[in-house]
Amino acid sequence: MSAADIAATRHIPSSDPRVEPLKVNVYEYMAKAAGQLVPLFPYDHAGAIVPCGNVLIGGPEQTYGQFFHWNTVSEVVVCYGSHNSPLAPGQVIATQNLHGVNSRLTDETDSDAAVVIVVTQHQAEDGDQTEAMISRCSGCQAELLRHEYDATPPTAPHGEVRQFPTTVGSARFAELRNTDEVRTCPECGLANDAFQGATWGWVRQVSQTATAQSAQAELRRSAAAFSD
Ligand SMILES: [Zn+2]
Repeated sequence: MSAADIAATRHIPSSDPRVEPLKVNVYEYMAKAAGQLVPLFPYDHAGAIVPCGNVLIGGPEQTYGQFFHWNTVSEVVVCYGSHNSPLAPGQVIATQNLHGVNSRLTDETDSDAAVVIVVTQHQAEDGDQTEAMISRCSGCQAELLRHEYDATPPTAPHGEVRQFPTTVGSARFAELRNTDEVRTCPECGLANDAFQGATWGWVRQVSQTATAQSAQAELRRSAAAFSD
């Protein structure tokens, strides 16, 4: 094959010099993560591929509930291991822009049921990125809440600890969903059960991220004061 033939074939472009290649072991990472949908790498800028880890575990009192996620960008789910789940280890699912989200456990009260999955989204290359979290009535499926939020990524990599917009939007959704006003279905009047946000861990993840950010800023201020 001549040099001209090789140049004409498709090839993977060189990596972005601003983004250090990193490697993460999903099992090790998710063993100690704060919640669901934890970005495994510190990159979520425009065009970035963002794999997010999840570990869902059954138990006697466990309730994850059901919600719907709408995203203008594509998501792919890969199952890294499962037990008593309709998801098979190694299974890959390309989701629709609007998709239902639940624990993927056959029986949430089964202590042996568990899944480790990675949900990967491809950030918008340019322009806006929008997402919504939607809750429906467990009795009649009427929409109880649609929390839409802007998730447009920063244009460049940053290298700083950042809040993940999907997690921030999800934490806010959980808060809004559990008000008496929203829980009560406008169509059939059913008082829906509270959404168990703690099992998803978004509030904790947002709080830990804010704490890590402020701790880092504080250390930098101390270092600057010390060097003056
Ligand atoms: Zn209803």
